[in-house]
Formats: sequence, C-alpha cells, structure tokens
Amino acid sequence: MLAWIVAAVLAFLALGYFRARLIGWTVVAGLFLAWLSLIFGFGSSTNISLLSAFAVVALAFNVGPLRRLLFTSRVLAVYRRILPDMSQTEKEAIDAGTVWWDADLFSGRPDWDKLLATPAPKLSAEEQAFLDGPVEELCAMCDDWEITHERYDLAPHVWQFIKDKGFLGMIIPKKFGGLGFSALGHSAVVTKLSTRSNAAAVTVMVPNSLGPAELLLHYGTDEQKAHYLPRLARGQEIPCFALTNPEAGSDAASIPDYGVVCKGTWQGKETLGMRVTWDKRYITLGPVSTLLGLAFRLYDPEGLLGDKKDLGITCALVPTNTPGVNIGRRHLPLNGAFQNGPNWGKDVFMPIDWIIGGKEYAGKGWMMLMNCLAAGRSISLPASSVGGAQALARVTGAYARVRQQFRTPIGRLEGVEEALGRIAANAYLMEATRVMTAGCVDAGEKPSVLSAIAKYHMTERARLCVNDAMDIHGGKGICLGPNNWVGRGYQVLPVGITVEGANILTRTLIIFGQGAIRCHPYVLREMRAAKEMQGREASIEFDDAFTSHIGHVLSNGIRAFVFGLTRSSFAPTPKDSSSDTKHYYKHVSRLSAAFAFLADMSMMAMGGALKRKEKISGRLGDVLSMMYLVSATLKRYEDDGRIREDLPLVRWAVRDALYDAQQAIDQVLSNFPVKALATLLRWTLFPLGTPFRPPLDARNHECAKLVLEPGAARDRLTGSVFVSKAQDATGILEQAFLATVACEPIERKLREAVRAGRLEIRPGVETALAASEKGILTAEESNHWLRKEALRKNVIKVDDFPQDFGRAEALEKLEGEIVKAKAA
Ligand SMILES: Cc1cc2nc3c(=O)[nH]c(=O)nc-3n(C[C@H](O)[C@H](O)[C@H](O)COP(=O)(O)OP(=O)(O)OC[C@H]3O[C@@H](n4cnc5c(N)ncnc54)[C@H](O)[C@@H]3O)c2cc1C
Repeated sequence: MLAWIVAAVLAFLALGYFRARLIGWTVVAGLFLAWLSLIFGFGSSTNISLLSAFAVVALAFNVGPLRRLLFTSRVLAVYRRILPDMSQTEKEAIDAGTVWWDADLFSGRPDWDKLLATPAPKLSAEEQAFLDGPVEELCAMCDDWEITHERYDLAPHVWQFIKDKGFLGMIIPKKFGGLGFSALGHSAVVTKLSTRSNAAAVTVMVPNSLGPAELLLHYGTDEQKAHYLPRLARGQEIPCFALTNPEAGSDAASIPDYGVVCKGTWQGKETLGMRVTWDKRYITLGPVSTLLGLAFRLYDPEGLLGDKKDLGITCALVPTNTPGVNIGRRHLPLNGAFQNGPNWGKDVFMPIDWIIGGKEYAGKGWMMLMNCLAAGRSISLPASSVGGAQALARVTGAYARVRQQFRTPIGRLEGVEEALGRIAANAYLMEATRVMTAGCVDAGEKPSVLSAIAKYHMTERARLCVNDAMDIHGGKGICLGPNNWVGRGYQVLPVGITVEGANILTRTLIIFGQGAIRCHPYVLREMRAAKEMQGREASIEFDDAFTSHIGHVLSNGIRAFVFGLTRSSFAPTPKDSSSDTKHYYKHVSRLSAAFAFLADMSMMAMGGALKRKEKISGRLGDVLSMMYLVSATLKRYEDDGRIREDLPLVRWAVRDALYDAQQAIDQVLSNFPVKALATLLRWTLFPLGTPFRPPLDARNHECAKLVLEPGAARDRLTGSVFVSKAQDATGILEQAFLATVACEPIERKLREAVRAGRLEIRPGVETALAASEKGILTAEESNHWLRKEALRKNVIKVDDFPQDFGRAEALEKLEGEIVKAKAA
C-alpha cells in the first residue's frame, strides 16, 4: 500500500512538474480512484456512486463549454467585480513595450538554450571607428574640473565638436543625416564619455534618448521629419524634452500644464492652433535648447478638432524663439555642469501642426511617451552608470596600488580589498547587463520591464561603487580639484537615481507591478478578457487563461519544491554550459520556479492591495531583477568565450545576486500578511532551509587582484574607459600605477638592504640615491625608482586654492573669452 501511495504522490508531482494538461490529471486521478476502490473493496453501489461523481466532475472540468458554464464564467464574474478599473494612462503604460527574457524568468521555466543562442551583441566597424576616433578625441578635449568648476559648461569648441561630429544624432537614421547607430553603439559612446566627463555624456545622451528625435522618428509627420531630423542630426537644433512640472514629478501623467485648441493669428494668417500654458523644471539642455519638446494636456472646448473636450496629454515641438517662451535660466544639479533649468509660458499661441504627428496625435502623448521610453531607459542611465563603475574600477585599483600605508599598498589591506573586489565584480556584472539590454533593443524589443531593471540596478550599483571608491580614496576623494577623479562622480550620482523614473518608484511600482502584468503568461490575458471583451469571446479567453494559470501555479509550486528538496541538482541548464557555471544556471532555474509561484501566491493573497504593498512588491521585483542580472552575467561569460581569468568576477557577482534574491524572498515571507500561507510557502520554497550564502572572501580577493595588476583582465574589465595619455590627473595615475608595479622588485631590494644593515632609511628619495651610490641599485634602477616616486607624489597630492577659490581669475579668463568670441 505504501508503494502505491508513494507512486500516486510521485505521479501527481510528475504531472505538476511537467505541467501536464488537465486530461492527464484526470486520467491519473481516475486510476487512483479505481485503485482505492480495489484496495478497500467498496461495495458495488459505493463504487458506482464514487465513479459517477468522479465522472461528473471530470466531465465538468474537461469539457470546455461545461467548464465555462459551471466554473470559469462564475470566476470571471467575481474577477470583474474585484479587478480595479485602470485609468487610460495606466493602461497605456501597461500596453507599452514588449517582454523578452523577463517573460522567461516569470514563467518559472527559463529557456537557457534560447538565451545562449542569442548572438552576442557586436558593434559595427563604423561604430567601433567612431569610438576609437571622435569619441576618444572628445574625451581628450574634456577637462572635467574646467567644465564643472570654471565654466559650469562645456567649452565652446567642445560643443562645436559634439555638433559637428554628429553626437547629437546617433539615433537618427543616415537618410536624415544622422549616424544611424545601433542601441549598442549609442550605449557604447555614452559609456565611454561617462568615464571622462559627466557633462559631456549627459549632453550627448539626452538628444538621443526620449525626446524630439525619438518621438519624431516614431510619430512625426513626413514634413516634421524632413524639416527637423536633418537639423537635429547636424546639431543645428539643440533639443530638450519638457514633461516635469513642479506639481507633477513621478506622477507625470497628472501634469497641470494645458493647451486650449483655438483659432489665432500666426504669421499674419488666421490659423488653427492652441494656446498653451506651462511651467516646467529640471529640463536637461533646456537653457541652451532651440527646440522644446513640450508635454501638456490638450482641451478642445469649442470642438474644433472633434467631439472630445479633454483630448489628453499631447506632445508638441516648440522653437524656443517663439514669442512667450521663457527659457534660459539654470538649475545647479549637484555641480553637474550639464545644462538644466526651468522654462515656462502663458497662453502661448502655436499652430496645431506643431503637435508631433499632427492633429491626429492630439491627446496621444502619453501613449507615445510610454512606447518610446524603453529604448532610452535601456541605454542612457545604464550606460553612464557602467562607464562610472568601469572608471572607478580602473582608477581605484590603480590608486590602491600606488598609495601605501603601513608600508603596504592599501589595496592589499583586507578591508580595502573587500571594497575594491566589490567594485570590480559589480563592474563586470553591470557591463554584462548593459550589453545584454542594449542587444535586446537591437533585436527589435522595447523592453519596458527590463529597461526599468537595468536603469534601477545599474544606477544603484554605481552608487555602491562610488561609495566604495570614496572610502578607498580617503581624503584624496574628498578635497575637490583637478586632482580628484572621484569626488564629482560621487556628487552627481544621485541625478541618475532620480531621473527617468526615480529609483524608489521604479523598484517598488514598476519592476514587479508592470512585470507581474506584462511578463506573466496569463494575468494580462485574464485582465483583457475581463475588461475589454464581452460575451462568448470573453468567456472562452478567460477560461483558457484561467485554467492554464491554475496549471502554471501548481506546476511552479511543485517544481520549486522538488528543486528545493534536491538542492537544484535536477534543475534545467543549457545543453552546452561550462562546468564552471552549470550550477548557477540550475540555481536560477530553481529561483525562477520559486519566484513565479510566490508571485502568484502573493497576487492571490493580496489581490489589488499588492500594488500599495510596495515593500512586498519591491522585494518581488528584486528577485526578478537579480535573476536578470545573473542571466546577463552568465551570458557575458559565454559570449566572451569563457575566459577563466574572469571567472572570479562571475562567481562573486552571481553568488552575491543569488544571495540577494534569496534574502528578498525570505523577507517577503517574513512580512507576508497571511501567516499560515507564509509558513506553507516557506516549506515549499526552502524545504531544506535557505541555500545561498554570500560570496566567499577568497573570491573577493581574486576580484580585487584583477584591478591591482596591469594586464589583459584589468583592460577587459575596464574596456570602455578612456585612458588619458596626457599629463593630467588620471593620465599620471595610470603612469604611476605601471611604474609602481614595475618598481616592486627594486622596492624589495631596498627593503632587503635595509634589513641586512647595508642601507639606512633616509627621508624622501635619499634612500634610493644612497642605494645607488653603494651599488645596491644600478643607475637604471635608481632612475626608475626616482621617476616612480615623482609620479607617486603627484598622485597623492590634493588641491588647495586661494581664499576665493580662484573665482576671480576664472571669471577674468571667461570674460576674456567672451570678448574674443564677440569680436570674432
Ligand atoms: C538633473 C535632472 C534632470 C532632469 N531632466 C529632465 C528632463 O530633461 N525632462 C523632464 O521632463 N524631467 C526631467 N527631470 C525630472 C525627473 O524626471 C523628476 O525629477 C523625476 O520624475 C522625479 O520627480 P520629482 O523630482 O518631482 O520627485 P517626486 O515625484 O516628488 O518623488 C520624490 C520621491 O518619492 C518617490 N515616489 C514618488 N511616487 C512614488 C510611488 N508611487 N511609490 C513609491 N515611491 C514614490 C520617488 O521615487 C522619489 O524618491 C530631471 C530631473 C533632474 C533632477
């Protein structure tokens, strides 16, 4: 009997595990019932009633029309009552974009072979040449201290170079005079620029992100495209995009800025147009823009466009020299010297054909913005954050080798090493995520959820990196000046956290909130059946989605339990995976099943209230995000050709993310509102306890070592960094780093001589000079050592200023330039 019971349990587990169809469950349940009747020897009348009852239930559930009539149509009625109504803007946000690997992770069964078969994203020869040419040149032209302290702007010749070389039109197709770059190419340019100058990177990033060019490309009329795109590509127009109002930041759909459709006089002729009133702030490039992309709510009280009085959010292109446009004042965003400021206008008349896409697109602005958001969000902030992390890995590793305390390079002190190793591993994971996400955009996706994950986690990890780098640099990072290469990055970092969807909101509302609806295989279908369909169509669609949904939940629960019980041993991996990383794929497969099950159970237990339970939904979003970051890291390892030297970075990054995902699940369960269900879920998801542990110290040591040594691994890890060849601060740091490493044998010789009593320690360079005199060092060795010492001195120095911080001198210089420019 025990064997039969075990067989029955195994059969049900197998049905769930392999996501069997309902008919499979019915057959197994029927056999089980027949066996029960045999074993217990029920009388024939009991047998008949039992089997008849089973047959009725089986029929009711297996025959579609019966099932709909008796079961799912009733569920649909209840579902319709409890499903909260969605506003048009919410609906448009949900409908926007596409899903990709996020849907796999949400399914509980990620198809690893599909992911690994995706070709490795590659730059075209032209993009590579642009990176090696104009981008390298632009980086060399940027003096960050001059930009952020003296000018509060890019120098005029830098602006001109940016315009002339087409940096502002990277996303504009060649037929309109743009560079026509891929998402990966565009992202690579922003990444590299960010390693040199935040202001230059932001200046280039904004016109190529969500704004006039992107909106025109998708929605512009032929005339608008023909007029504006070539001008934007050549830098004859400087665009900005103004959405944010003092009253509406994160809740941008509620902007109070408005336009009223009316007739007015434009260039001497009566013209159908709008009178627009707006008050915008924080607008990047606004103060220098010539073309204002403006979002406002459009009303048509006189019915000049049709029957609708409140048309909704509308986007228009407004030349900034239009009478009534007030623009030019600046904010000072954390000393980031990129142009940013407010603009406003009151009852400014503008022709109706200034609406992007013409009057047919009046009121469609929110849909347009939501549809275009994903591409820019996949690129701008992820790229600039990755640039920041790579630059920090390179300069912090170098500094930690050059700077000594307790006669040891500080990078070799374990406490410092811990922070340094974290920077290195994060830089690897972040680059992997940047490339995979940009590749996804190039494959034609508009990844609404993945772009939010990339934006949130790249900016947050950049914040971790810069905090670690600041700690490692000590006072050197704190005293601002041309010799401080980390302080400005630290200052300006919160800008990335705040823009393109402030991070708290992105984590708690978008990643899981949008993910649960968009990536879930059945939820959106159920919602659409309930809200957008009627009658038989709704009933059939809902029935199919709902019954599949039940199978999906059962299956994920069983799979999560089985994987937990077997320590992920049998969880799926790609067919051809390296033995070094195979177990990581298994862990993500397990997590994916656990996450999918937990997500469904959370939605079931909390319903619509889950949207307000942001602490829970934020953590669920973290699990999804960590699985994505791990997937990207593993994919990078494969795409790079399984470089074993990089393995410590992979191991640290993956283990750290798996542990974070596990902690997030643990915290969801600890705070789950239905305690009994939480206990049941804990048993299901962690039957043998929590499996993942934080990365090992030994891995951290290996990661730190990679950035403390010159060589291929360091160059790969920091491959996007502009390495200055000039005698500027980071150029000298690089030389000092190489010289320090090269001089270590000399340093050892000196120490041994001191220990043996052949040499006395003297101040400064005198020890080496004495060693040279005594023949302990050759003349060549002595010269190397003296050069290294001079470079080291240069590296550790910090800036000091006169009482007025040199403002008078800087102003004089600037005024002189202005006079010269005016004369020219
Ligand atoms: C330097 C800079 C450049 C910018 N550039 C542009 C630009 O070019 N064009 C443009 O239109 N705008 C721009 N912005 C505006 C930017 O998009 C907004 O700052 C952003 O949307 C946040 O709005 P807010 O600052 O008013 O913060 P608030 O909306 O007041 O948010 C404050 C905090 O509350 C959190 N929060 C809000 N709602 C929720 C919620 N439902 N759940 C959880 N948390 C929530 C946010 O995450 C944030 O942490 C820029 C801003 C800055 C600082």
